[in-house]
Amino acid sequence: MNIEAKDLSKVYGGGENRVTALDRASLSISPGDFISIMGPSGSGKSTLLHLLSGLDRPTSGRLTYDGRDIYSLSDRELSAFRRRRIGFIFQQFRLLPVLTARENIIMPLLLDRKQPDERYLQELAGMLGIRDRLTHLPHELSGGQQQRTAIARALIAGPDVIFADEPTGNLDSKSGGEVMELLKTVGKELGKALVVITHDSRIAAMAARRLTIVDGVLSEVAE
Ligand code: ADP
Repeated sequence: MNIEAKDLSKVYGGGENRVTALDRASLSISPGDFISIMGPSGSGKSTLLHLLSGLDRPTSGRLTYDGRDIYSLSDRELSAFRRRRIGFIFQQFRLLPVLTARENIIMPLLLDRKQPDERYLQELAGMLGIRDRLTHLPHELSGGQQQRTAIARALIAGPDVIFADEPTGNLDSKSGGEVMELLKTVGKELGKALVVITHDSRIAAMAARRLTIVDGVLSEVAE
């Protein structure tokens, strides 16, 4: 899947309260790309991520997935599209506390009334080193194991792209590094594009393509 963002802008408020959160951002994402986006707080990172993943609509600009303008979809079509084609990873893991790791992982499929492919689930759990943790509740898992469970959940529906918002923000630097290495390896083996927002320059440096965002202006860091 090729993702093409062209001149995406997002303006909040009006008059004196007008804020240009994102200013004509353009970006191409190809299968297998690993992209990091770094920027200070308030620079527009979340706004960009929400627009690229169709969680929000821009004030102006275009976003296509394989040539298809996704903002032309209705809200309902867009949420189905997101469930099937896009995986999300959050800083706070966002696992449901009353469900086991396994139940959390397959939740996106159940929401789509699909049965899990047991072999793929086991393959993912194996790659992420959580095969023996699948029957545990989130509070019985370490932070790193919780985030690895969340990575499996992001991948279970076979998305084309994973968007991760500060995925190591709640982890110590050792388990954060391990989680990123795993995410990178799994993304590569499964051919997924990976877009990671981070404050951490060491995490950003792991990406093949690095972008920065300052005051809503996105730019690619030259090699
Ligand atoms: P980051 O994720 O880099 O911290 P954001 O994308 O959250 O930055 O925010 C970018 C700018 O847009 C900030 O100035 C923020 O205050 C503003 N902003 C974000 N969301 C809203 C909103 N819903 N209403 C008004 N302003 C917003």
